Amino acid sequence: MKRVCILVALCWLLSLPVTAASDTPATQTRAYPDRIEFALLEDVYAARLVITATWPGGGSWEISPSRGHTGYSVSFDTAEIAPFTELRYYWEGTRVDMTMFATPESTVEVLAWGARDWQRVENAMAMVLWYGQPAAFGQAVLAATTAHSAALQRELGRGLPGQVRVVIYSQQFDYCGEICGNSGGQAHDTGVIVAWPCAGSSAYLFDYVLPHELAHLWLQPYRARLPVWFTEGFAEMATGQGQQLPQQSWEWRALQYRAYASPEEMRDWYAQAGSLVDWLHANTTGGLPAILAAIDAGADFESALRATFGMNSAQALQAWRGVEVAQTPAAAWWPLALDSAQKSRLLWVVIGLLVVAIVLVRQSNFAEDE
Ligand SMILES: [Zn+2]
Repeated sequence: MKRVCILVALCWLLSLPVTAASDTPATQTRAYPDRIEFALLEDVYAARLVITATWPGGGSWEISPSRGHTGYSVSFDTAEIAPFTELRYYWEGTRVDMTMFATPESTVEVLAWGARDWQRVENAMAMVLWYGQPAAFGQAVLAATTAHSAALQRELGRGLPGQVRVVIYSQQFDYCGEICGNSGGQAHDTGVIVAWPCAGSSAYLFDYVLPHELAHLWLQPYRARLPVWFTEGFAEMATGQGQQLPQQSWEWRALQYRAYASPEEMRDWYAQAGSLVDWLHANTTGGLPAILAAIDAGADFESALRATFGMNSAQALQAWRGVEVAQTPAAAWWPLALDSAQKSRLLWVVIGLLVVAIVLVRQSNFAEDE
């Protein structure tokens, strides 16, 4: 019995420094519509809470908590932060034994606040959150998201990851206050997409912002390993809009660094990036999935491009310029760009124009006869 007691005591002693070094203080986090309550449930010598918002205009905060009976707490006012914003946070500080600690980074979501009548509709593939629009609007966004995921699956072999959240802000101010500029949306690691119709039209939202941001989400696992012209070009390609290319195309370096200075230059930059990625997809054996598979296998972007396309990006840009520049982009490959109803509508417009032309020609002939 004595031996057992010694053994238990020894185990207890041995376990002490291990738990002290590896355990971080327990925490608790609760979100309310107007605030988030963060608590560190142990008494420590000193602590602070570090919060980062993952959204544009969100910012970061380092907060000294107030000390309570059983630890520290922070009441974080979220009234100025957009609903559904994801906050990343961790605690760090010094224990009473003067050793340092830092809790693992966690996330918490800002709840919907204010007078907005947030609504929600979902299926296995997507959850749509919106306000200020009828139920049919949310259903349409859900249907569009599902269709875009199916299109990605068809074209690239993989749809959107898990259940995608699409958050639609009808008022730009609700999303980013007065801080951020004109952006159409934002894709996040967590699968949250935010979009609002900047231009005020639902066509802009459905035809441009939504497919663009969903494409970003699709590409998110590769994001850190791809040049920005490729990720933006990929998103542009997925919209199937086929923008008019500029007469003067961007040089390789300018393409790398988004060297645009005006909305017109920005549109040109996006158009070129979209055309270049579209062209790479069409002219690489196995398309973009082959390039991404090479990156999966450990290659950096330039090596992956050389291995699959046979050129680095500067050479590819030269080759693309020789083929595509100053030509109106061909009909986009994107299957959603023009559905059969749109095609037949286009056909009727062409037929209508032909009829009008024939009538005009005949009328002018009659006029000459007279
Ligand atoms: Zn983008």
